[in-house]
Amino acid sequence: IRWWDHVTPAPKDPINSVTEAFLADPCPYKINLGVGAYRDDEGKPIVLQCVREAQAKIESSNFLESNSTAVSSKLVEESAKLVYGEDSDVIKEGRFAGVPALSGTGACHLFAELQRRLYPNSRIYLPDPTWSNHHNIWRDAHVAKKTFRYYHPDSKGLDFMALMDDVKNAPDGSFFLLHPCAHNPTGVDPSYEQWKEISSLFKVKNHFPFFDMAYQGFASGDLERDARAIRIFLEDGHLIGCAQSFAKNMGLYGHRVGCLSVLCDDKTQAVAIKSQLQQIARTMYGSPPIHGILLVSKILSDPDIKATWLKEVKVMATRVQRMRAALRDSLEKLGSSLDWQHITNQVGMFCFSGLTPDEVDRLAKEFHIYMTYDGRISMAGVTTKNVDYLANAIHEVTA
Ligand code: PLP
Repeated sequence: IRWWDHVTPAPKDPINSVTEAFLADPCPYKINLGVGAYRDDEGKPIVLQCVREAQAKIESSNFLESNSTAVSSKLVEESAKLVYGEDSDVIKEGRFAGVPALSGTGACHLFAELQRRLYPNSRIYLPDPTWSNHHNIWRDAHVAKKTFRYYHPDSKGLDFMALMDDVKNAPDGSFFLLHPCAHNPTGVDPSYEQWKEISSLFKVKNHFPFFDMAYQGFASGDLERDARAIRIFLEDGHLIGCAQSFAKNMGLYGHRVGCLSVLCDDKTQAVAIKSQLQQIARTMYGSPPIHGILLVSKILSDPDIKATWLKEVKVMATRVQRMRAALRDSLEKLGSSLDWQHITNQVGMFCFSGLTPDEVDRLAKEFHIYMTYDGRISMAGVTTKNVDYLANAIHEVTA
C-alpha cells in the first residue's frame, strides 16, 4: 500500500513564507520585517542581561529531575502576579487554575481544547484581523469560529462602534478572544475608557473574555500598564482566561515558556479546571521542558533580576517607539502626500501600514524588503541604519 499518496502539502504559514523569501535573497542590505521577534539596533537578536543572570543562578539545578511540579508552580504563581497584580486576591485565595504552557501558542491551544471539552457547542469570536494562528488553533480544536469587527482601514485605528455592535449582537454567554495590549497585527489597542465600556458590555452580555497576552510590556514599556485592560475586567468581576508568552518580552522565543490561567469562582472550581488542563497537556506532551521554566521563574522571583528585566523591557519598547517616530518623520521629510500618523498612533511590535499586496510585492522585488502581504511591518526589524532606506522604498511604492 502507498500510505501517503493522497496527501498534499499543508498551506505555508504566511510568516514562515516571508522568512524563506528573505533568506533566499542574497542582497546584502535586505530587510526582514516579517517575524515578530525583538532585534536590537544592529538588527540582531539579543540575549537579555536578566536571562544571563538567571542562567548563572540556575546552573546547578538538576535538569534530569523528572518531577517538575515545584518549578511549574513557581512559574504559574509568578506569571499570575503579572496578570492579576502582585497583591491580587485572586492569587491569595487560589481562585485560578494555572498551568505552564508551551509559550503563547501552547497556552491558546490548551484553552481551545478546554473550551471544546466543557462547552462543545460554543464558538470563539476572534478579532478581525488577528494573529493568523488563532484561526488554526481553534479550528484544530474543533471549536466553531466567528470574527468580530475591530480595525478601521480608513483611520487605521479602532472601529469601536463596530466592535461594540458585534459584542452586543453575539449570543449571550459567548467566548471572545481579546488582545489586552499591542494587538497583532494592527498595533491598535482600545483606550482605557473604551476598555471600560467593553468590559461593561461583556458583563451585560455574560460573555467570557479570553485574553491572549503575547506582548506584555511592548505597548507602553511598563508591564503593569500593559495589564490595565485585564485589571478593568477583574474589577468588574469577570471570570477571565489568560494566555501569557515570555517569547517576546524575555527574548526566550526558542524556550517556549508560557502560562495559561483560568479564573474561577472558588478554589474547588480551580482545582477541577487545573486537573482538566493537566490531563489535556499530558496527552499532548506529558510535561513541559524544564529549562526555560526555571529561567523564567528565576527572573520573576529574584527581585534584582526582575528589576533588570523590567528595565530591559522598557529599553526594547522604547527602541521600537523611536523607530516608529523615525519612520514617520522620514516619510514626511520625503514629502509623502499620504498620512502616516498611524505609524506612531499604533503601539507594540507591529505597524499595520496600509500597504497593499502589490506594494508589498514591489518592496520585496525592487527593494529587498520583506513583510507579510497584509502590510504588517515588524517594527523590531527597523534600525537607525535602515529606517531611511525603508522610508524611501515605501515612498517610492506609494507615490
Ligand atoms: N499570540 C499572539 C497574538 C502572537 O502574536 C503570538 C506570536 O506571534 C503568539 C500568541 C504566540 O507566541 P509564542 O507561541 O511564540 O509565545
